[in-house]
Amino acid sequence: MLDISNLHASVDNGEKPILKGLDLSVPKGEVHAIMGPNGSGKSTLSYVLTGRDGYDVTEGKVSFEGEDIGDLEPEERAARGLYLSFQYPVEIPGVPTLTFIRESLNAQRKARGEEEVSAPDFMRLIREKAAILNVSMDMLKRPVNVGFSGGEKKRMEILQALVLEPRFLILDETDSGLDIDALKVVSDGVNALRSPDRAMLVITHYQRLLDYIAPDKVHVMSAGRIVASGGPELAKELEAEGYDKYVRAA
Ligand code: ADP
Ligand code: MG
Ligand code: MG
Repeated sequence: MLDISNLHASVDNGEKPILKGLDLSVPKGEVHAIMGPNGSGKSTLSYVLTGRDGYDVTEGKVSFEGEDIGDLEPEERAARGLYLSFQYPVEIPGVPTLTFIRESLNAQRKARGEEEVSAPDFMRLIREKAAILNVSMDMLKRPVNVGFSGGEKKRMEILQALVLEPRFLILDETDSGLDIDALKVVSDGVNALRSPDRAMLVITHYQRLLDYIAPDKVHVMSAGRIVASGGPELAKELEAEGYDKYVRAA
């Protein structure tokens, strides 16, 4: 589904190379985890995949469902179902969460040339998805992220993913401290989204998250490349022994 070959990417107008020959394939239906030391380029990879401004591909290729997406705008990638979950949730005073999620869904539909969702259809959809994550209607009426706890913000982030139903979901769980509650929310969301025609890339520092998610593959990233790949046991090994072995190998 996602095929990345020899990807090189830079910031600062090509002055600063960060990804240096990265290869990665994620087949449809699979969940892959990426782990690796701070600064190895994990977040950069997620930005490059979603086409964020300021991250330039200098070599290599990214194809999504057989299509080279290197020249597509972020909106065009989103319309194809490539979705990066927000890592640092913003507060939007005055905008009820319900409204925000509905507008996100309608923006996605518009980009695909589809009609807006009707109010009753949206309510049916949001009730169904909110139930999976134990989110109350009261909470959905509150303004986006204002006064939400870390776990509640996480719930909203995952709820949005459940509503938008991306074909390919990228979750970057970088430096944010995930407590047990948030770990559960993220893993319930990922597990609810698992499907034979969807794939996910979960970037995480948390071995414990991978206990709940049970990824099909685990990759280690170091210095802008994937330097090791394996099954879930690789995450356990990293937890026990750290990244040293792989960092040296890079
Ligand atoms: P990770 O997510 O693995 O911690 P990042 O992708 O955030 O790594 O960063 C990789 C390296 O690229 C770091 O050295 C970081 O400082 C640098 N970097 C990332 N984005 C930028 C940017 N916009 N401008 C300058 N340096 C950047
Ligand atoms: Mg970082
Ligand atoms: Mg990061």
